[in-house]
This record gives sequence, C-alpha cells and structure tokens, in this order.
Amino acid sequence: MTNAVAEPPRAPEPEQGAAAPAGGLPVLDRVFDVAPEEELLYSISADGKRKFMHPIVHKGRHWKVRRAIAYALYALFFALPLVPVGGSPAVFLDLDARRFHVLGTTFHATDNLLLAAFGLGAIVTVFFVGSTFGRMWCGYACPQTVYLEFLFRPVEAFLEGGPLRQRKLNAAPWSRRKVAIKVAKWSIWTVVALLMASTFVAYFVSWKALVAGLLHDPFAMKGALFTTALLTGAILFDFGWFRDQMCTIACPYGRLQNVMADQDTILVAYDAPRGDPKVKVKDRVAGVPAGDCIDCRSCVNACPTGTDIRRGLQPECIGTAQCVDACDEVMIGQKKPIGLIKYTSEREQKGGVRRVLRPRNVAYLVLLAIAWGTLAALVLTRGDAQIEVVRGGREPYRLLPNGQVANQQRVRITNQLAETQRFTIEVLSPKGASLVVSESPVTVAPSGLVTVDVVTTVPPAVFVDGQIPVRYLVRSDKGFRKEVGFLLLGPFNDAGPDGGTP
Ligand code: SF4
Ligand code: SF4
Repeated sequence: MTNAVAEPPRAPEPEQGAAAPAGGLPVLDRVFDVAPEEELLYSISADGKRKFMHPIVHKGRHWKVRRAIAYALYALFFALPLVPVGGSPAVFLDLDARRFHVLGTTFHATDNLLLAAFGLGAIVTVFFVGSTFGRMWCGYACPQTVYLEFLFRPVEAFLEGGPLRQRKLNAAPWSRRKVAIKVAKWSIWTVVALLMASTFVAYFVSWKALVAGLLHDPFAMKGALFTTALLTGAILFDFGWFRDQMCTIACPYGRLQNVMADQDTILVAYDAPRGDPKVKVKDRVAGVPAGDCIDCRSCVNACPTGTDIRRGLQPECIGTAQCVDACDEVMIGQKKPIGLIKYTSEREQKGGVRRVLRPRNVAYLVLLAIAWGTLAALVLTRGDAQIEVVRGGREPYRLLPNGQVANQQRVRITNQLAETQRFTIEVLSPKGASLVVSESPVTVAPSGLVTVDVVTTVPPAVFVDGQIPVRYLVRSDKGFRKEVGFLLLGPFNDAGPDGGTP
C-alpha cells in the first residue's frame, strides 16, 4: 500500500462501466478524446480556481529510466555550448555571423539544401515520434517534464517535504519558518533558472564571448543580458507556478496528438476489465464481485497533471507513467500481477495486437531516411570550401572603350576548414577572357566567409544571343580546387556594333 495523499475534492467519479460496452472497455471515437464524464481540467476546480498538483513520487522502474534520461539530457544541454569540438563549442549558433557550428562542422545560412533537409527531418521526426510513441516524448524527454519533475520539484521536496507537507505549508499562515523556506526555495530556483537561461543564451553567443563581454563591457552585452533576464523570469514562472498547465493548456503538441496518433500508438491505459468494479479493501466482501483496483487513488495522486487514468484516455495525460509505477507498487503490495495500468495501444485494449510497423509509420520512416540520409550525404560530401558567383554592379554589362565587354560579379568564398585558406581565382574560358579580382589571394579565416568583387572581360565576338558561359577555377593553398560556371551577358552580335548596349 502506498502513502497516497488525500486529494482535494474532485468532480464526482462516474461508474466506469457506464461508458463501457459489454466487453468492459470504454469506446472512444478518437484516441485522445476527453473522457465523456469529465468536463473540467483536473487542475481547475468547479469554481474556476487553480488546483495545484503535488504528485507523490514512486521510484519504480519507469521513474528510474526517466531520471536517467533526464540526467543525460541535463548533461547534454549544459555541455554542448561548453565543450569545444574542432575549435568551436560543440554547438554554437552564431546568428550574428550567420554560421552554425555543430560538432566540428560549420553550416552557413546559405547552406539551403542542408537546412531544407534538416527542416524536413525535424518535422517528420516529430510526426514519427508522435504517431509511434504518443506522449512518451512528453513524459521522458520534453524539457518541461524533465526539468520540472527531476530538478524543480526535488528542490521543493528537499526544502518543504513531501506532497502532504507541501500542502500543509501552503495552507498555513505566514510565519518566519514559512518565509525562510519559501525564500530559500525561490533563491535556489532562481540560481538554477539563471544557469539554464545563460546556458541557452550561450548557444547563440558562446560562453567565451558572454563571459568576456560581461567582464570588460557589460553594456555591449545588453541584448544577451536582457534575454537571459527574460528567460530566467519565464523559467521561474513556468516551473515555479504555471507547471502542469503548460502541458494541459498551452502546449500544442498534446492537441496535435489527435492528428498524429492512431490505433497502434503507445499510450498509458488502465485495464478496466481487470480492475473494475473498483472496491476499496475495507469494503470487499466475499462473494461480491470486485476487480483488482482497490480504489486507493495512488495512481491519481502520483500524476503530475492530476489525471485519473481510470476514466479512459484523456489529453491531460502526458505519458509520464508515474501512475504505472504507483499502481505496480500497489499491486505488489496486494500480491497481484503488476500492469493494471500499463503501456498499451488502443488496438491492444480492444483485444488486438499492436502493430509496430503500419503504413503511416513506414511512410514516416521512408521520409526520415530520405531527409536525414540527404543531410548526412551533404555533410559528408561537402568540400573544403563553398564558392558562389552572383552578378554584381547595377548594369548587366559594360562596353569598354577598347571594344571589350566587361561583366561585374561578386564571388562569395566560404572556408569550411578549421584552418585559414588563401584562394586564387582564374578564368578558364571562353578564349580571350581576362579577370580582375579586387584582392588576390583571398584570405579566408576558418569557417569564415569573404566576398570579393571580380570583373570578367571578354571580346564582344564571343557572345551568342547576348550571352556566353564562362568557367572559373578557384584554388586554395590547402589543396582546394573547384571549377565554377557562370553566364556572362553581352551584346547581341546580329544587332550591330552597339546592339544591346544598356
Ligand atoms: S488503478 Fe491501481 S493505483 Fe489506481 S486506484 Fe486502482 S489500485 Fe490504486
Ligand atoms: S495519467 Fe499516468 S501517464 Fe498520464 S500523466 Fe498522469 S501519471 Fe503520467
């Protein structure tokens, strides 16, 4: 038997069997429909007041897995902008320079194909995870749950005690002790929030620049400071007060579940045929039917959103499995098999077998393979530099006094190596073409981008229909070598000596 805490009064619980067919399970039109009897959010009382949740932690097998994942995610979040890889932080999204350093590879805002593949991969991943694992993402990996359940709530429990003590403290009149505890709690939370916010900002500014700026010229960092302060406030508001309402009211992911989930999506559910009729231990009488549920409400008291999963599938369930751990503990105490509340699927609930692979998932997997495969191929095959030639100047071409035709271009050179490269540009064709570069060699710092002006001059006779392809050769002192094509504009030769002059 668990140490369940009495909950404040809820809307009266209807008979589970009232909505159930002969087979025992409630029939819901859609996977995450609100249970028909529930008209209120669990976190709001009938008079519209907020009900604060103080879930009881049961350190069962799911909780242990979630805690391990949470700690790994903390380590990842704090380490990525801190640990250097290839001369830059492991992840540094340098918006100012429009460069993104990820695990030693630098991406640029001009890497359109890469960004498109990444965007497609991210979107399809969300749909794949949503359709396959349902709200397990929320329970196991969403920052909202990860930080609330394994960082902010433990600090609260350390200072205020368990859920029952927390309720008592909140209800008690203000005293020196209460003020001291609340001040200590919010102070620790503020330090944690500040650390989280500044780490988040460091992803975009880098710790090195952030610390150097703060030490030498804090005013120059006012944007970063303002963002850090704003985020700190938002984190405190969310994890200190808003909490489960982020999942049940604000977050669009839960609402998307109706679109993404199907009959085979993993969900947490109560085994009504086994559990019903629910009869408390003290009310059990020999010969009177009673299910395995002893109506102890341990599952409800463990739920961070206050959901009573016994009422059926509901959008407030964020898949934490805290009710599973709680009920397993009760079942073990009752010497009954665990799994009265368990991971299952709607199809399994109806007596079928859950299909891991189905057309929707396979389609997502194919798209995932295409998106992430393209991204991997593009990253693996990208050269040591990226060269782009674009038209420069205000006029398409100019006729020079010596009769030659001049085109102005801009050449963007992106150094994709972790060392400086010196580039030279020469023109290979057409015959008679010459090139003037504004600087040569062009020195480009590691992961840097330099744009130079070039003027290509060709004889007028080479133009066909007012244009002629030109080829450049770009080389670097580090062995990079690439031929780049471009289309020069010029006069229409059949229009006379001055034909086409702008
Ligand atoms: S489902 Fe399990 S934890 Fe919930 S009330 Fe019944 S016996 Fe208790
Ligand atoms: S009902 Fe169970 S799985 Fe759903 S949020 Fe509550 S504790 Fe987590």
